[in-house]
Amino acid sequence: MKENFARLWKLQQLDSELKTITGKLEQLPARIESLKKQVVEAHQELELTKQSVVELRKQYKLAEVELKAAEDKISSYSVQLYSAKTNEQYKAFLREIETQKKLKNAIEDRMIALMEETEALEQKARASERQVAELEAEHREKIQLLEAEQAELTAAMEERLAQRTETAQSLPEDLLKRYERVKASKGGIAVAPIRKERCSGCLNPIPPQRIVEIDREDRVYICDACGRILVVERD
Ligand SMILES: [Zn+2]
Repeated sequence: MKENFARLWKLQQLDSELKTITGKLEQLPARIESLKKQVVEAHQELELTKQSVVELRKQYKLAEVELKAAEDKISSYSVQLYSAKTNEQYKAFLREIETQKKLKNAIEDRMIALMEETEALEQKARASERQVAELEAEHREKIQLLEAEQAELTAAMEERLAQRTETAQSLPEDLLKRYERVKASKGGIAVAPIRKERCSGCLNPIPPQRIVEIDREDRVYICDACGRILVVERD
C-alpha cells in the first residue's frame, strides 16, 4: 500500500505539471499567429503606399500628355492668328489661345501638386520599408523563441505523459479509478498533501490523531470536507 501512495502522489504531480504545460502550450499558436499577422499587415500597408506612388506617377504622365496637347494647340492657334482673314476670326483665335493657356496653367498646377504628393508618399514608403524590415526581424526572432518554447513544452509534455502512463499502470485499478473520479470533480487535484495540519486542497483542519493514521499509509483516507485523497508529504 505504501508504494501506492507514492505513486498516487507522483501521478498527481505529473497531472498538475501537465495541466500547467498544456495551459502554456495552448496560448502559443495564437501568439505566433498574431505576430505573423502583424508582419503580413505591415507588408500590405507598405504595398498600398507603393501602389499609390505608381498611381500618382501614372496621373503625372497623363498630365504631361495633356500639357503637350495644350501647348501644341497654343502654338497652332498662334500661327493661325497671322492668317486670320477677319477681325472676328482673329478674336476667335485669341480666345482659343486664352482658353488653352488657362488649361495649361491648371495642368501645371496639378502636376506640381502630384509631384509633391508623390514625393511625400515615396518618403513615407521608404520610412515604412525600414520599419517593416525592423518589425519583421524583431517578430521573426520572437516567433523563433516561441517556437522553441513550443518544442520544449511539447517534449516536456510527452515525457510526462509517458511517465504518467507508467505510473497509472502501476496503480491498482480501483485506486486509479478513484483518483480519476476525484480529479475530474475537484478541478484536477485529487491528492491533497496535509500541510500545517490542514488538507491543502480545501484547508479543512485534520485532527492530529487522524494524521498519525494517514501517515501509516495502510488505507486510503479522504478529506471529510472536499473528498480529496489525503497524503502526508514526504520530500
Ligand atoms: Zn479537503
